[in-house]
Amino acid sequence: MMMIAYLERQQQQQQQQRLVPDGDVELDPDHSILRALDSDATGDAVAAAARDFGGMVFLQPARFLRPSTADDVAGAVVLASRSSSLTVAARGNGHSVCGQAMADGGIVLDMRTLGPPMEIVRCGGTAAAVDVPGGALWAEVLSWAVRNHGMAPVSWTDYLGLTVGGTLSNGGISGQAFRHGPQVANVTELEVVTGDGERLVCSPSSASDLFFAVLGGLGQFGVVTRARIPLVPAPKMVRWIRVVYGAFDEYARDAEWLVTRDDSAAFDYVEGFVFRNDASDPVSGWSSVPIPPGSAFDPARIPADSSPILYCLELALHYDHTQADNVDERVKEMLRPLRYLRGLEFAADVSYLEFLSRVGRVEEEARASGTWATPHPWLNLLVSSSDIADFDSTVFKRVLSRGIGGPMLVYPLRRSKWDERMSVAVPDGELFYLVALLRFVTPHAGEAAVKEAVEQNQEILSHCRNKGYDFKVYIPHYESEADWARHFDGDWTRFVERKRRYDPMAILSPGQAIFSRAR
Ligand code: FAD
Repeated sequence: MMMIAYLERQQQQQQQQRLVPDGDVELDPDHSILRALDSDATGDAVAAAARDFGGMVFLQPARFLRPSTADDVAGAVVLASRSSSLTVAARGNGHSVCGQAMADGGIVLDMRTLGPPMEIVRCGGTAAAVDVPGGALWAEVLSWAVRNHGMAPVSWTDYLGLTVGGTLSNGGISGQAFRHGPQVANVTELEVVTGDGERLVCSPSSASDLFFAVLGGLGQFGVVTRARIPLVPAPKMVRWIRVVYGAFDEYARDAEWLVTRDDSAAFDYVEGFVFRNDASDPVSGWSSVPIPPGSAFDPARIPADSSPILYCLELALHYDHTQADNVDERVKEMLRPLRYLRGLEFAADVSYLEFLSRVGRVEEEARASGTWATPHPWLNLLVSSSDIADFDSTVFKRVLSRGIGGPMLVYPLRRSKWDERMSVAVPDGELFYLVALLRFVTPHAGEAAVKEAVEQNQEILSHCRNKGYDFKVYIPHYESEADWARHFDGDWTRFVERKRRYDPMAILSPGQAIFSRAR
């Protein structure tokens, strides 16, 4: 409800803005930077920059520019800083869900056009890294590093159609994060254009405050034009495993045990999801579990007193051809202590590239069915392990017991893998769960279904607050300064200070709705 009201307010503001006469000197088409980068000022490109994957917020920019160098980015920021009201949003791949990459009446930068090409960096000994433009997709980084050097980064997102700059502005979480940390913990150098148009290189040892400010900084402190990502030899093969639990306490105990084991005894990937104890739901029922597709799910293995909600732990172990002979034995040993329902275990051997690209296949199906293009009222939370059992019994088992038309992820992460100097806000406890409610709305469901989902998200957030959970919204979206201050809590003063230091006129990333452009 709140979000719908917010959208209406934004649309009104947008209409008022259109009353400003055309020919605004601030966007004089003869300006050199506009002549150089403004290939399509009015057409489809601008319309594309006015929407995102969420499909619920529409904010028309004045210009959608296509920078090819960091100097182009700096030029656009300087142009905005010399105007009285222009803002600048870096748009990665537009996979935000609440307009975070938009600039109402401002300049949107298409980061996908940014160069130069990726380049390997030797870091002494066998260590290597790759320098990537901020607008590179993680899928491109993977393919380039594996094909050209047989190497790969260690920390991923589930879906790779996201840009490096976009995920570094938030966190970048997947099943490797318990072990290697999120993507923001796996970058060693950034090139950044700050809010006054300065182009700076920063790292943990040089301009470190800017470096850590930008990581998880929601685009507030600078536009990432280049990132240096460490590489390791790419694994060849993956044993991909799913095991089913009937009881949440057993699921959580095993998941937490797995993510706190020594590296030598740990899986390479630990995730998990909630699914419905239901044969008829093709999206989040029994059939959503088996791998490889087509394997049978035997419901006779589910205890008769199980709840309408079941849990699936998803694990992966990397191996190469020299280890292929003993992978069965290793996996058997690693699974032996776990308390999953025997007979409900599934496994597939896939290449590393196939494993990391697994959500790409989901995307193809969703595009074919039309649900990729419909609104996505997603909610991502980080909930402390001390509150996750209560969350399960109230939210998963009651509020969401009928499913959400898409995946409901829930798996533990470790706070010690997140550097406290980064801007991203996480719960206080050492173990916290990523809860991702990835809602898909069918094309014929209509606006009422979207509204209902948004209201349900609000209900869940209110529940977390009222129960005093130790939790944070991941990829947050708030409407008031008070909410942002509450989100960052003890680090709010630092966040505001950093804004004053690196973007004093509040030009950057206006779609996050944290600060107002100085006039
Ligand atoms: P955009 O939506 O384009 O931008 C997001 C924010 O970052 C905006 O504020 C923008 O201004 C800013 N920004 C973008 N580029 C830059 C830059 N170069 N410099 C500075 N600021 C910049 N997240 C996970 O952690 N794990 C997942 O597994 C995961 N899976 C997802 C799957 C799908 C299908 C979708 C839609 C999202 C998923 N996400 C996941 C969320 C995703 O990480 C964020 O939405 C991310 O911001 C999207 O990246 P993007 O390139 O599309 O960024």
